[in-house]
Amino acid sequence: CGVFGVFGHPEAIQLTYYSLHSMQHRGQEGAGMVISDQVHMQQVKGEGLVTEVFHEDLLKTLSGSASIGHVRYSTAGGGGYENVQPLFFKTHTHSLALAHNGNLTNAIAMREQLERDGSIFQTSSDTEVLAHLIRKHNSLSFKDQIKQSLPMLEGAFAFLIMTEDQMIAALDPLGMRPLSLGKIDGAWAVASETCAFDVIGAEYVREVEPGEMVIIDDEGIRSEYYTKQTERALCSMEYVYFARPDSNVDGLNIHSTRKMLGKQLAKEAFVEADVVTGVPDSSISAAIGFAEESNTPYELGLIKNRYVGRTFIKPSQELREKGVQMKLSPVRKIVEGKRVVMVDDSIVRGTTSKKIVSMLREAGAKEVHVRISSPPITNPCYYGIDTSSAGELIAAKRNVAEICQLIGADSLSYLSIDGMLEAIGRPSSMKNCGQCLACFTGNYPTEIHDHTVRPHEK
Ligand code: 5GP
Ligand code: SF4
Ligand code: MG
Repeated sequence: CGVFGVFGHPEAIQLTYYSLHSMQHRGQEGAGMVISDQVHMQQVKGEGLVTEVFHEDLLKTLSGSASIGHVRYSTAGGGGYENVQPLFFKTHTHSLALAHNGNLTNAIAMREQLERDGSIFQTSSDTEVLAHLIRKHNSLSFKDQIKQSLPMLEGAFAFLIMTEDQMIAALDPLGMRPLSLGKIDGAWAVASETCAFDVIGAEYVREVEPGEMVIIDDEGIRSEYYTKQTERALCSMEYVYFARPDSNVDGLNIHSTRKMLGKQLAKEAFVEADVVTGVPDSSISAAIGFAEESNTPYELGLIKNRYVGRTFIKPSQELREKGVQMKLSPVRKIVEGKRVVMVDDSIVRGTTSKKIVSMLREAGAKEVHVRISSPPITNPCYYGIDTSSAGELIAAKRNVAEICQLIGADSLSYLSIDGMLEAIGRPSSMKNCGQCLACFTGNYPTEIHDHTVRPHEK
C-alpha cells in the first residue's frame, strides 16, 4: 500500500490526489482520502484506481487544508469497500482517520481481546485494531493515546493518523516500510515514496525513523519515540521490486540500486549471450545493470501493454496466466535466432517466467537464460507484500534445477543473499545490513505465533 499526508496547505486535496496517483503502483484495489478543515472531516473512498475513485466534480465538493490518503493492495483481511482506507471513525467529541501501509501480525489476537472487552469492529482490516486501542486510552492526550497504543502492535506499519487538528506519522520499531517526510510551501508532507514529493514539487526533508512518531499541527512539527527498542529491518523487496525507480528509499535511489543488483547478478551468473532483455517495468533497471556488467547489448526484447494492471491483482491462476499474456509481448525481430538473457526481479509462483520463456521461444529465441535479481523466495511475507502463501511459492520446496525445468529455461540463476546485500550496500555494521530477508531465509524479524496473520490463498 501507499500513504500520503499533508498538513496546513490550501491545496491539500489536489496534492493528495497527485501524490496518490504517483504511488498507484503500490496498490490498485482501492483509494481514499480524508480531509480536515480544522473543524470537520470528510471521507472519500472507493474500490479501483485513483482516477476511478476521485472524480473532479467530487473533489470540488471538498474543502480542507489537511488530508491523508491511501492506495490499497490487500494481502490480509481481504478486499471490499469497507476495508478501503483511510478508515474513518466518529465519536461524539472527535473524528479519527487512519491510513496504514504494512501488516499487523498480531491483529487477530488483538482483535479477539478487544472484542472480549466490548469493541465492535466495522471492517476485517488489521488496521482497525489501532483505532480501538487509541479509544481505550481516551483519558490521555491524543498523542499519548497513540504512544501507548503503538507498542502493543506487532508487524510492519507506517501509519498516518489524523484528527481535526493534528496529523501523526508513525513507523514500526523495525522500520520495515519506507516513510519519508517532506515540505511544500511551508507545509509538512509525509509519503511512502519520495516520487510523491517529486510530482507535487515538495522538497524531501528526511526519513521517519523506526519507533518514531512525528506530530504535526498548527504549532509545527515535533518528534517523539514510542519505543527505544528499534533495529532497522527494511523490506528488501522495496528495493527489488515494489518501489518506483525514481523514488529514494532510506536514501538510496531505486533505479541505481536495481542496476547494482543486476551487475552483481552478472558477476555471479554470467552467461554467453547475444542480448539481454528485462521484463517491463520492474526489472528494466536490473537488466540494464546485467547487460553493462556482462558486456552484452541491452535490448527491448519484451514490451508491455501499459493498460493492463499488475498480474498479481488477478484472483485466480487461470486469470493470472491470461493476464501475463495480455500484458507482455516479445519483439520478434530482436530475439529471433538469438541467445537471450531474460532478467526478472523475482519469481513468486513462476507464472511470469514460464510464460515469458515460452513466448520468447515462440518468437524464435535460440536459447533463453533466466536471471533473477533477487534470491529464491522460499517463505511467505507476513508484512504486507504479496509474495504469496507457502504452498504457492515455486521455490518453497524446489531447488534451482527443478525450477529451471518447470519454467522451461536453458539455464536459471538467482542472485545470492550476500550479493543482494552487497549490491544494496547499506551499512554492513547493521544486522542483515538493516534489511528484512525473511521471505528468502525464513528468519522473521518479529515473533511469529500460531495467531500470526497469514497471507490469504488466492
Ligand atoms: P510470478 O509470476 O513468478 O508469480 O511473479 C513474479 C513476477 O510478478 C515478477 O515479474 C514481479 O515483477 C511480478 N510481481 C507482481 N506483483 C508482485 C509482488 O507483490 N511481489 C513480487 N515479488 N513480485 C510481484
Ligand atoms: Fe519484504 Fe520479504 Fe521481509 Fe516481506 S518478508 S517484508 S517481502 S523482505
Ligand atoms: Mg515484473
